[in-house]
Amino acid sequence: MHSAKDKHKVVNRHGKKPYCRMPIEFSRQAQQAFSPEFKARIMQAYALFPELQNKTIACGLLKRRGWVQGTAIGWANPPVFRLQPNVSVYTIAHELTHLVQGDGSGIPHGEVPCDIWTVDKLPAELLDQRPYYLLKNSRCDWKRHKLAIKDLCRQAIEIRKTQRMYIVWLRNQIKKLDSPYRSS
Ligand SMILES: [Zn+2]
Repeated sequence: MHSAKDKHKVVNRHGKKPYCRMPIEFSRQAQQAFSPEFKARIMQAYALFPELQNKTIACGLLKRRGWVQGTAIGWANPPVFRLQPNVSVYTIAHELTHLVQGDGSGIPHGEVPCDIWTVDKLPAELLDQRPYYLLKNSRCDWKRHKLAIKDLCRQAIEIRKTQRMYIVWLRNQIKKLDSPYRSS
């Protein structure tokens, strides 16, 4: 058995860092480009992911190019996500969901599932952006219906446990949200 002193030596020899309060490693570029407020927003979203708390993840700066606001590579070592400065809590959480997707997480791969699980996870007050992939080609009034959509996402996740048509079901339900206001 190692004494406490020996353990300390072993940890140092392998260069392992002890688990710290902030296991997100910001790249040098991200450190420079992200304001303290934006970093706080990232940590706020990160706190909602207990799945990620005991591993190091890297956060980089995404250079402005087109409409992409964030990217994520879960299989990288360490897993890495990149963000444009000052993107929404929603975008940050969407990229973090990508980092936990697949492999035993119960979250299937793909952009639409990523949106569904992100909407479900975020508290209503942090739903600060329309989920792009889920509501693509939908004219749904997101601001008006976001609480209902959050509830439907929860139900869709339950439905997926027994059947695979949950996205079709969810989109039909979302379509119905506006129907009482439509003239027939
Ligand atoms: Zn995505």
